[in-house]
Amino acid sequence: MKLESDGILISIRPFDERNVIAHIFSRDFGAVAGMIRGAAGMKNNRPLVGQFGNFSWNARLDSALGVFHWEPERNMATHIMINPQILPFMNSAFDLIKTLLAEREPYPALYNDTIEMLRKLPDTQNAPNTYQHWEINLLRELGYALDLTHCAGCGKTSELGYISPKTGRAVCTTCATPYTERLYKLPITLNTTLRFLENVCAQQDVKIPQFRAILSTKFF
Ligand SMILES: [Zn+2]
Repeated sequence: MKLESDGILISIRPFDERNVIAHIFSRDFGAVAGMIRGAAGMKNNRPLVGQFGNFSWNARLDSALGVFHWEPERNMATHIMINPQILPFMNSAFDLIKTLLAEREPYPALYNDTIEMLRKLPDTQNAPNTYQHWEINLLRELGYALDLTHCAGCGKTSELGYISPKTGRAVCTTCATPYTERLYKLPITLNTTLRFLENVCAQQDVKIPQFRAILSTKFF
């Protein structure tokens, strides 16, 4: 089996003295895991998290760990890596992609959203908003399409004070009155999206990814 696409290198960890295990979030096949041979010993052109490039991936069997050939084109994280205020957002996004998206399943919209987020993150002041926007897009892919346009109860578009944890739809203050303790308050914060992510993690029987958990302690 052979795959070819472009993508973002989202994680690298050592496998042995010479080789690394990498995850690439690709345009055509979503998250793909595989080995980059010889990468651990490279002095120059070492693969780096945040690089954008082209790859091919080969595996003998569909289930086997494939081997990447990675051709980096540019590093999208150059300005992010050196800024401790925005680096946690990139780390969290990459950790969520790696943990929650099914492997080798395409997510073309989220792929474009991720490229867009990496371009916008270096604008430090807007970085929390940029990240939150991306996380809302991730939740859409994971089955929680948040709808804040109108009240799920009566349809009105004003006085939307709450969001339902079950449906992700807005509820106006009047309709919410009997149930406020069971609803999340608007506006949406990273705490709100975290609670939806916790639901997804519970369904998939995984823990909240470490870098997302760190983000919560940093920004609330
Ligand atoms: Zn209502």
